[in-house]
Amino acid sequence: MIDLQGKTALVTGSTSGIGLGIAESLARAGANIVLNGFGDVDAALAAITATGARAVHHSADMRRPDEIEAMFALAQERFGGVDILVNNAGIQHVAPVDEFPVGKWDDILAINLTSGFHTTRLALPGMRARNWGRIVNIASVHGLVGSAGKSAYVAAKHGLVGLTKVTALETAATGVTCNAICPGFVLTPLVAAQIDAIAQRESITADAAQARLLADKQPSGQFVTPEQLGNLVLMLCSAMGDQVRGAAWAMDGGWTAQ
Ligand code: NAD
Repeated sequence: MIDLQGKTALVTGSTSGIGLGIAESLARAGANIVLNGFGDVDAALAAITATGARAVHHSADMRRPDEIEAMFALAQERFGGVDILVNNAGIQHVAPVDEFPVGKWDDILAINLTSGFHTTRLALPGMRARNWGRIVNIASVHGLVGSAGKSAYVAAKHGLVGLTKVTALETAATGVTCNAICPGFVLTPLVAAQIDAIAQRESITADAAQARLLADKQPSGQFVTPEQLGNLVLMLCSAMGDQVRGAAWAMDGGWTAQ
């Protein structure tokens, strides 16, 4: 069992889905948690404090560098800095590239990719000074392969895998590591919206749409869970992860083995 007592983890987009699951895993291991994201903030804070961990929430919009800087200032003031950074905030929009709304493209690139540059540049000086740090970028199978209709998301996630590699090289001789995790489908609000869209478009039930979504891409036929992703983050935070650097680690039910 890994002990993260005394460490502080900042998880972007952690009020629901994968980010909340990862924050709960880190909290159970003893880390202080900086939550971020919109929606039911009180429920997310309650889930973290129920583990006995200390937690604070900052509502930084990950499209806004000034708000991201304010979130880091809060982490510094409350907990003395950030030891573990999980870049998780992300949104999706599905449309053909020639019909893709320009504003959606800009938002997806800002939230899913550029925010990871800002958080990384703000976290690194403290991690270098302490000669220990973990940066985990929640990319996607779409950081490794494409899918029609997801141009902005696939471009952003491939970019995040690239940022991961360069950050890992620039920190390779230090106690700071940077890796990406590439999940397949996880049943969260982000994917529920895609299931609803399939059900509506094809006039089928939500269960049938869910089975269709998995059958198309994920050979295991099972969703990946936030808990499984949280355990992978814990491994990367442990001494076992000391020499895992610049990896794009798939947890995808076989999606990218095809
Ligand atoms: P989700 O919709 O459940 O959670 C997204 C989180 O990001 C929420 O906390 C939301 O409030 C926050 N958020 C959205 N816009 C924001 C903004 N502008 N500023 C700050 N926070 C913002 O989605 P999820 O499925 O848990 O996705 C989390 C990450 O995992 C994303 O990066 C996503 O691309 C990635 N991912 C998801 C899946 C999947 O199947 N669900 C698969 C691979 C990768």
